Amino acid sequence: MLIFINPGHAQGGMPDPGAVNMEANLRECDIAMTVGSLTGKYLEDAGCKVKLLQSHNLAGESPAYPNVTDTANISLADVFLSIHVNAGGGRGAETFCYWRYGAAGRLAGCIQAQLVQSLQPFDKGYADRGVKENKSLCVLRETCMPAVLVELGFIDSADVQLLKEHQDDMARALARGVTDYEKNWLKI
Ligand SMILES: [Zn+2]
Repeated sequence: MLIFINPGHAQGGMPDPGAVNMEANLRECDIAMTVGSLTGKYLEDAGCKVKLLQSHNLAGESPAYPNVTDTANISLADVFLSIHVNAGGGRGAETFCYWRYGAAGRLAGCIQAQLVQSLQPFDKGYADRGVKENKSLCVLRETCMPAVLVELGFIDSADVQLLKEHQDDMARALARGVTDYEKNWLKI
């Protein structure tokens, strides 16, 4: 299985770091890259192939940067995983897919369950915000394989402690979510 990992926002934060918590010295682009790279490592350990691209161009809007969805589609990846961090003051994880009742919905369910199970023991306040449909996220709409976008937590809430100290646990959870999907839904 080939997994295409897309850490959210621009590489190195230029021109778009995503959500930022200045006080905690945390940027979404850096968390996404660290967690994405570790997730790739764990998936490779589990026998998967991995491609990773963080870019300011998701579907052709910034031609100076490599195009994420085109690159994913051409790679013939089996699964697309975009990694983000929320802002706005809530708590916990949520996972988006284009259509809840398709393969992406099943993949999103596996990832969401692993994240919540892995992180809640460290902080009971880390909420299970569930699997949600979203038709406007272009990484979900423009990709031709089952695609999900995971929000690991809120950079401007008490989640910040988990986002600081448990990036490795988050990566392990994402990798287990992907391999659960493969085991439960692809190898029947
Ligand atoms: Zn984001």
